[in-house]
Amino acid sequence: MDNNNSNNTPEKKSFLRLPDIYRIDYSKPVPFRQQFAFMATVLVISCLLFSIVYIYQTFRSGTSQVAGAEASSSAESKDKKESKPDKKKENSSESSKSSKKETSGSSGKKLLTKVSSSGKDILGETQTVSKTDSDIGFGSLVLVNKDYSSRYDGENIKLIFEEKSDSYVLSDNTVGVAGDIITNINTMLDDFQSLYGESDIMIACGYRSYDTQVALFNDEMDDESDKWVAPPGYSEHQTGFAFDLDLDLADGGKAGINYEGEGNYSWINENCGKYGFIIRYPKGKEDITGYGFEPWHFRYVGAPHSEYIADKGIAFEEYIDVLHDHGPDNALVMDDENGTSWCVYYVAADEQSDSTDVIVPVNYSYEISGDNVSGFIVTVKLS
Ligand SMILES: [Zn+2]
Repeated sequence: MDNNNSNNTPEKKSFLRLPDIYRIDYSKPVPFRQQFAFMATVLVISCLLFSIVYIYQTFRSGTSQVAGAEASSSAESKDKKESKPDKKKENSSESSKSSKKETSGSSGKKLLTKVSSSGKDILGETQTVSKTDSDIGFGSLVLVNKDYSSRYDGENIKLIFEEKSDSYVLSDNTVGVAGDIITNINTMLDDFQSLYGESDIMIACGYRSYDTQVALFNDEMDDESDKWVAPPGYSEHQTGFAFDLDLDLADGGKAGINYEGEGNYSWINENCGKYGFIIRYPKGKEDITGYGFEPWHFRYVGAPHSEYIADKGIAFEEYIDVLHDHGPDNALVMDDENGTSWCVYYVAADEQSDSTDVIVPVNYSYEISGDNVSGFIVTVKLS
């Protein structure tokens, strides 16, 4: 039966109705015109496919509300979170061009209306305040990364549930953050809820103690762990200024963190700068921060710093470098959209002494924060 069938089939080949030029007689050398026809056909098909992909991509980026977070968004980042590293690395080749939008928001609207620099005359009458070397490790502008460990360990922490608003939930009542930032969290998430009506935002993690980080680091030890889990002492969560958002989904969602800052939630990632927060591990800055893109990890640095970082689309490490170039004689002056004018400058720690005289204005309110690297940042509110 089979033999008979196969003997009868050659005639059926004609159902393909290929033009003669595509019919190859394999018993003879293939004529040049046939080779040419095949190559030309392959070329035309490739061009067509390329055009279709190009038009599709252009259409997507043109209509996407959040180009960075949505367009390339990647099933890859889906299952990632700091404590459950995914084997598939999200590498920097993944659209560094979208990193600007990721951090500065797709609207392109700047949070600061003007940035300039000024001599210290702008401070008016000044005096000095003495700061010790250990003070370098404290304040909302401390840089904590794989090179600079946290000197905080719980002393500034408040439980969020004691002061939280109703616009979000907590993974449990033990979640704490630096007490000063709870108001900012409340305001940001209240504004988000009133805009979009979403009520499934959850703060999954805030302060993590050194001991917790030891356990987490040991649990997750594998080749990729240092991309997602900080070594004990080097986690920003230990400062209390960082927290992770998650979604409290009815069906429980997937394992790991469900918050990706997409759809309506992109509003939070685009506007967090107004409330003093930054996306600490932006896309495209992996080489600088030492961590993969984490749209769920927010860090408080306070205004106007958060606004400058968002506007410029830079990592916190890069901002600290910028500040190191602005002493009191070359201070950064930033005006925000509320009409508030800020003056920011850096004072290097005195290497010859255990304490440093930090210049401050007499007539304006100011804050001094250590940078946890080499000195102090003074933030003055001029108006
Ligand atoms: Zn985190």
